[in-house]
Amino acid sequence: MSSTNKKKKKSKEVDDETKGKLRALFVGEKKIINGFPFNINDYCYRDGKPVALLECKHRRRPNDGDIKCPAKSTLDLEGNIGDVKNSHNHRKNETLKEERAFHDDLKEASSASGEDLHKVFNAVRRRSDNIPPVAFGNKRSSMHRARSKVHPPYPKNLTDYANTLTEEKWKNYFKYKHGKLQTQKVGSGRDVSVMFYDPDFMEKLLENAEKGKLEFCFDATFNITPTRMKLRQFLTIMIYKGNHAIPFMYALMESKSTKAYQEILKQLCLLFPKIKELDPIFHLDFELASRNAILDIIPTATIQPCLFHFLQVRIVC
Ligand SMILES: [Zn+2]
Repeated sequence: MSSTNKKKKKSKEVDDETKGKLRALFVGEKKIINGFPFNINDYCYRDGKPVALLECKHRRRPNDGDIKCPAKSTLDLEGNIGDVKNSHNHRKNETLKEERAFHDDLKEASSASGEDLHKVFNAVRRRSDNIPPVAFGNKRSSMHRARSKVHPPYPKNLTDYANTLTEEKWKNYFKYKHGKLQTQKVGSGRDVSVMFYDPDFMEKLLENAEKGKLEFCFDATFNITPTRMKLRQFLTIMIYKGNHAIPFMYALMESKSTKAYQEILKQLCLLFPKIKELDPIFHLDFELASRNAILDIIPTATIQPCLFHFLQVRIVC
């Protein structure tokens, strides 16, 4: 059906800066006029002053298309809301205030946490009173939008993830209380891994390391890998200092192949060439790929099978 609205000629266009100021004023309670929710529809000059033209958000959707509510108003640069023109063609939503508070809570909770959105929805619902029935499906997209403004997008795969990590706007995520993490993508094809480490912290851990006495331990788990990226494991390389095993470097890995381990070890030796010179000892589980990769990249390394993993294998058997 073609629109019958005639386009009115405007004497003067409202500039983008003024539009931005009006948009910034149209927040919170200003969006509710006499208990009805309004949107900005357009901008124009009224009596020589720029205003935002507001219209009621309500739409009736009979079979032949949307029917807009005819109620309209204005907002000026002083924040004044004009009289409402035309009557609403629908009833007032008596629970609008509660719905809006719930909506705002959902958006805030979505941006504050990285948890599954459905769980966030349920948690906010549990702590909110007098909430009218509303399904998660109706709120998912606005929750997702709120989160995407403050969180990096969910990556499709590890390469996508590595590219996102290099963007300047997410750099703050790498700071922690005592330093700053760096990331490095290594490998290609199906053997991509993303390494995480703090070179300054690693340097400290390698201080005073003696030849033949530098000991590392490989520990990998599948349990904490992100589910949507098809990853094989999260690897932690620990270093022994005194009687402690301290996390030295981490890697998310797409593959557990010898090649994937080789790329990680190559990068490690590139960062700290002295690791190779110190004939390190590696404590491993009984996986051949990691063992072969270590002996290939650091031929002078000593491999010691790990008693903990040996006992795990025996328990499983
Ligand atoms: Zn209306």
